[in-house]
Amino acid sequence: MQQRKINNRGVLFTFDMFDWDLNMYLILGKKYNFLIDTGLGSLCIEPVMEYIKNQSKPLFVINTHYHWDHIWGNSSLKNCSIIAHKLCRDMIEKEWEVMMRKNGRFCYGNAEICLPDIVFDAEIYFPDEQIRIIHTPGHTIDSISVLDEKDRILYAGDNIGDTMDDILPSLNCERDAYLCTLMKYKELDFDLCLSGHNGILQKDVLDVISSKI
Ligand SMILES: [Zn+2]
Repeated sequence: MQQRKINNRGVLFTFDMFDWDLNMYLILGKKYNFLIDTGLGSLCIEPVMEYIKNQSKPLFVINTHYHWDHIWGNSSLKNCSIIAHKLCRDMIEKEWEVMMRKNGRFCYGNAEICLPDIVFDAEIYFPDEQIRIIHTPGHTIDSISVLDEKDRILYAGDNIGDTMDDILPSLNCERDAYLCTLMKYKELDFDLCLSGHNGILQKDVLDVISSKI
């Protein structure tokens, strides 16, 4: 597991025990901390909890989309509020068994079903924290992205492909919806772009993706 400090208030946790990387991102806010995605189970959550063990700020958890590799740690954070798109909650409920059956070998520690308890449609904003959480369909219809306005970081979930060779993500919704999301990203003010499986990228990665779609 690799732990990288990003700008002033972010920490990127990267797990590489399989032949693909998996990221989770912690934002140390003023009144709250935010954890984006919960990985493969309880053992992905342990280093995050260790990192914030001396802090008394409540932790908000965010699920970028319903896929198993982003939500299996939810049950280790049962006492936290979990924020997601409203479709994400429905899809976790519907797909849990199938995802576990197909990919259970990747489970890392314990994972039980634990649904997001704060859901939204278009956007949630934390003005004092300067954190925007936006519906950005593309990789899936429930995909959301998190903009840290203060640190100028966009966390785009799996809307960025997993590697530079595969920078166009798999799209499980209308291509137009993803194009719209790319346009939305370009209008946002940020410098670095993080995602579920790729590295630390500059904003111009969006142009590379646009040229391939
Ligand atoms: Zn995914």
